Order: sequence, then structure tokens, then C-alpha cells
Amino acid sequence: MDRIYIKKLEFFAKHGVFPEENVLGQKFVISAVLHTDVREAGKTDDLTKSIHYGEVSQMMKDYLESHTFCLLERAVETLAKKMLLEIPGLMEVELELEKPWAPIGLHLETVSVAIRRKWHTVYIALGSNMGDRERYLQTAVESIGKKEGCQVEKVSSFVRTAPYGGVEQEDFLNGCMQIRTLLTPRELLEFLQEIEKQAGRERKIHWGPRTLDLDIIFYDREVIEEEDLQIPHVEMQKRDFVLIPLREIAPFLRHPITGKTVGEMAEELVQRYVM
Ligand code: ADP
Ligand code: MG
Repeated sequence: MDRIYIKKLEFFAKHGVFPEENVLGQKFVISAVLHTDVREAGKTDDLTKSIHYGEVSQMMKDYLESHTFCLLERAVETLAKKMLLEIPGLMEVELELEKPWAPIGLHLETVSVAIRRKWHTVYIALGSNMGDRERYLQTAVESIGKKEGCQVEKVSSFVRTAPYGGVEQEDFLNGCMQIRTLLTPRELLEFLQEIEKQAGRERKIHWGPRTLDLDIIFYDREVIEEEDLQIPHVEMQKRDFVLIPLREIAPFLRHPITGKTVGEMAEELVQRYVM
């Protein structure tokens, strides 16, 4: 990805843990690296195809001067989020906020906090086999789309599948979606579990089939192997109800460990059923 650099923009603000700092204020310095594709702007000489670094500089200065935070950490976290949400074409941002006059009673050149934040591409599998299944899936898609820092990019059609195991229960309705998110994997898991809970609570179900199941299938190309969170989802290659709808929206997406595409995994499953 191409980059635009803004180096050492100075401004005066009131961030700090000491009350005096919040009243008197002091000098701060911010640097930013904007990750964006500047190829079109390079070909056309058209500023609207790139990011206007003058406007971004003003935005950073205005934001950091009009808010007061205790911590540099909080200042850059909230600023990075605002920039990723509001600046079209900004895929990733690096920020470093310096506080050269930090009141620690020692001489130093500067102290700073640096972070890197970006949009992540995530695939989520949706399933329901209770009640108004279509509405549960549709409502989940809408809730995810309304969440700050989540944008729905693609939604597959919803497919009907028979449940495993011979237990008498309703057919499943399954789908997959592609989103762009600023949430971490764990924040996303917690958010999806809230949506599941809301769907369950609505029908007052404490036992039995699930009204709504939301699983994270892929999170960028990340591999996470924790007790309560595995990404890519460990069962995905065995589940036709995940692979068939996922193939519809992302046939060439590759599993980061096995190296197989979604299309190949779906094909292998179908072959196994035939034989
Ligand atoms: P399943 O989805 O297998 O039918 P549940 O929805 O009841 O089962 O999920 C059980 C647990 O699976 C959750 O509490 C969650 O912590 C864990 N889990 C692990 N990896 C994932 C993932 N990638 N997506 C969603 N849940 C996951
Ligand atoms: Mg689940």
C-alpha cells in the first residue's frame, strides 16, 4: 500500500494526568502515516483521487485541541478511529503523539505513544434453526451493519440445510457475510455474542435449538489459537453450510494454514458426499 507522511505537526493542547496540565496546556507534536492507494491520483493528477494531507493535518490539530484526555494512548486511539471512519480511502493509519514537555521532573527530548490501526476484512457465518429464521439472520446482518466500526460488504444468499445427527429439529438456514471492521477479533466475538443473546432473549429460549449462531470464519489472514477463540474457525472445512454460502461471496479466498481456497474446500466436501 502507498503511504502519505505527515511529520511533526505542532499544536497546543491540554492532555495529561495532572490537573494543571488540563488547565495550562502544553506543546504536543503529532506524526501520521496514511496508508492509501495513490495510483489513480498519480495517473490523473487529481487530488480528489487521493487524501488531502492539508485537511488531514487540520483535522488532527482540531480534534486534539478540542478534546482533553488524561492519556496519550486515549488521544491517539480515538483519533485513529475517527480518521479511519471519516477519511475515504484510508485503509490503515500510524500515529505517533509526542509530548516534549512532559512534566516528569527530568530532562528528556520527548516522550511519545505510537499506534497502528487498520480496517480488517472478516467473514462471518450465520445460522438459525428456530422460529423466523430468515428474520434472525436478516436482523443480525442489520445489527452488524449498524455497529460503529463495522461495514457490511457482501452477504450471501441464505441456504436451507438439514441438521446433522437424526435428532428431530427444524432445518437450518445458513449464510455468510464479508465485513470490514475496526474491532479486534475478541471485541468482534463479544459483539457477536451480544447479538446472539439478544436473539435468544427475545424468544425466551433457555434450552434447545439455537435461534442464532454467529461464527467468525476468517479475520484477515490471522491465526488465533486460544481456548475460547480459534480463527480460522476449526470446523469450517467440514461444514457445507459454511462453505457453500461462503463460496458464493469469496470462492478464491485461501485458508491461511492449509492453503486451500474456499472453492476447493467446498468441492472436496461435495466429493466426499458423492463417494
Ligand atoms: P457452535 O458455533 O460450534 O455451534 P457456539 O456458538 O455455542 O457453538 O460457540 C461456542 C464457543 O465457541 C463460543 O463461546 C466461543 O468462545 C467459541 N469460539 C471459538 N472460536 C470461535 C469463532 N471463530 N467464532 C465464534 N465462536 C468461537
Ligand atoms: Mg457459534
